[in-house]
Amino acid sequence: MTILIIEDEAKLVDILKKALKGENYATDAALDGEEGLQKALKNNYGLIILDIMLPKRDGLSVAKELRARNIHTPILMLTARGTMEDKVAGLDIGADDYLIKPFGIDELFARVRAILRRRKTTDSDIWKVADLILDKKKHEVTRAGKVIALTPKEYRLLDTMVTHRDQAMSRRQLIENAWGPDFVEANNELNVHIRYLRRKIDSEGLKPLIHTVRGVGYIVKEA
Ligand code: CA
Repeated sequence: MTILIIEDEAKLVDILKKALKGENYATDAALDGEEGLQKALKNNYGLIILDIMLPKRDGLSVAKELRARNIHTPILMLTARGTMEDKVAGLDIGADDYLIKPFGIDELFARVRAILRRRKTTDSDIWKVADLILDKKKHEVTRAGKVIALTPKEYRLLDTMVTHRDQAMSRRQLIENAWGPDFVEANNELNVHIRYLRRKIDSEGLKPLIHTVRGVGYIVKEA
């Protein structure tokens, strides 16, 4: 597993690289936010250590862009400022944890291990969009804590949209992904099932999560 370090203090990068190597992690590094973002988009990392104060593009913006592009690599934020606003902003954007500079190497290892452990047990089976939770192992869907009964067709459709959350999907992509490439749609079936899903998932009083993308298809996202 390779860890990407996005940090502009070359000295700290060296220290982190050496320390992580000692724990048998491979490392890659970027010295500014833009380079870091490009590397994170292009390569597959097990974890990203991301400083907030960076040249060209700050860490919060890098994290935001990655999550917006549906890249869910775990992120450990580094902040020198240590203000509550930064921490909350980082976690809101989708960082997994943060460390306040200066930190001890043992503390870094502890956080890295904790993040990777957490991700391993939850990442593949439990998918969340706001308070909608889809458990792929149990084939169970809950919204705001309540279990929602879906037909197998509805479940596969929702599963497809949640797996591609924050991505607009065309009608064809949805049908092929959910019901198979040979599925022939009749009587506007997709719209009918979307309507059923909306009635069940986005019931009254709840924030809608299934959105229409005009001229394209549909997207599942938070607001
Ligand atoms: Ca910095």
